[in-house]
Amino acid sequence: YGGGLQKKPTSGGMKPPAPIGNKNRNYDKPWAVPEKKKSSEAGGEHDKNSFLHHVYPDGVGPDADLIMMLERDVIDKNPNVSFDDIADLQESKKMLQEAVLLPILMPQFFKGIRRPWKGVLMFGPPGTGKTMLAKAVATLGKTTFFNVSASSLASKWKGESEKLVRILFEMARFYGPTTIFMDEIDALAGRRGGSEESEGSRKVKSELLIQMDGVGSSSSAGANDKQDDTEQRKNIMVLAATNRPQDLDDAIRRRLEKRVYIPLPGEEGRRQLFKINLKDIKVVENIDWESLVHKTDGYSGADISNVCREAAMMPMRKRILAKGFDLNNIGNMAEEIDIPLTMTDFEEAIQNIQKSVSAESLKQYDAWMREFGAL
Ligand code: ADP
Repeated sequence: YGGGLQKKPTSGGMKPPAPIGNKNRNYDKPWAVPEKKKSSEAGGEHDKNSFLHHVYPDGVGPDADLIMMLERDVIDKNPNVSFDDIADLQESKKMLQEAVLLPILMPQFFKGIRRPWKGVLMFGPPGTGKTMLAKAVATLGKTTFFNVSASSLASKWKGESEKLVRILFEMARFYGPTTIFMDEIDALAGRRGGSEESEGSRKVKSELLIQMDGVGSSSSAGANDKQDDTEQRKNIMVLAATNRPQDLDDAIRRRLEKRVYIPLPGEEGRRQLFKINLKDIKVVENIDWESLVHKTDGYSGADISNVCREAAMMPMRKRILAKGFDLNNIGNMAEEIDIPLTMTDFEEAIQNIQKSVSAESLKQYDAWMREFGAL
C-alpha cells in the first residue's frame, strides 16, 4: 500500500511508567487505542473489506481514529434517491449524468479531448435539490457515495484537515468508483487570502488542489507514479455544492471546471414538488393547485416541503384546538385527524411558512452565473 498514511510505528521506544488506573491502555504500545475502540467491536462496521483494515489489518494505528470517523460519517451506504424523486431540473439531471456518471462508467471513452472535468460545481440557493441530485447520480451509477459536509469536517478536525483531505481521497480510491460530494465547499475552500488566512486553511486548500489535480499528495509515494495516477483518477468524481459561490477560492473554482446553476423551482417544478411531497397524503378533490403554485412563487424545494408538512399537520392542530387532548383516547384521535387536507390547510400553511431565499441573493447568483457559470 503506497498511501500517505502514517503507518503503525514498529519500535516500542522507551517503556512508559506502569499503568495507573486505566486497564484499557496498552502501555507497551503507546500508539494503540484502548481495547474498546477496536474496529471489530465498533458495531461490526469495519470488516475485512474496509479501508481501515486495508491500512491497519489489526484495526489500530495512528490514523485509525480519523479513518474510523471518515468511514462512519462520510460513507453513505444507501443514498437511494432516484432522478424521478427530484422535481424538474431536467437540464441539470442530463448534464450531471454526462459530466459525472458516464466518465466513471465508461472511462475508456473519456480520454484526450473528452477527458472528464476535474470537478463539477452545483451552485444556487439552499434547499433546491443539490444534495438530492448528487445522491441520485451515485445511486444510478452504483458508485460509492461519499457525503462530505465540508463545514462539519473542517470544524471537527481543525488542524488536521489537511491530513483528512488526503485520507479522504485515498479512501475514495480504495472504495472506487466513488462519487465524492462536497457540500458547502466554500467552508473548506473559502476565498480569504492575505493575512487573515490561517496556515491551516491554506494547507487544506493546497491539499485539495493537489488531490483534484489527481497528482497525488507529495507524501503518497504510490500516487506519484503517472500511470498509477491516471488509473486512479478514473475512479473518482468530485461533485461539489455551494450556496455562496462568490466566496469560493479562485484556484478551487478553476478546478471545478463545470459549473451548474441549480435555481429555485419554476412553475412546473413547484407543481411537481406538491405532487412528490403529497404522494402518501389524502387531499380533497377541489384543491386549486394552480393557485398554490402561484402563491409559492420564490419558494425553494425545501420551502415547499415545509409548506406540505405544515399543511399535513393542520387537521391535528385544529382538532386539538377545538376539543383539547384526551390522552385516554389517542387511538380515536389518530383516526379522526387523518382526514384529507383542504385548500384552507394549504393556504394557512403558506401564510406560516415564508420563503427562505431573498431576491437580493438571487441577483448575486445571476451575476456569478454570468461571470463564471459554465453550462
Ligand atoms: P440543497 O442541497 O440544494 O440545499 P437538498 O437537496 O438537501 O437541497 O433538499 C432539501 C430538501 O428539500 C429535500 O430533502 C427535499 O425534501 C426538498 N427538495 C428540494 N429540492 C427538491 C427537488 N427539486 N425535488 C424534490 N424535493 C426537493
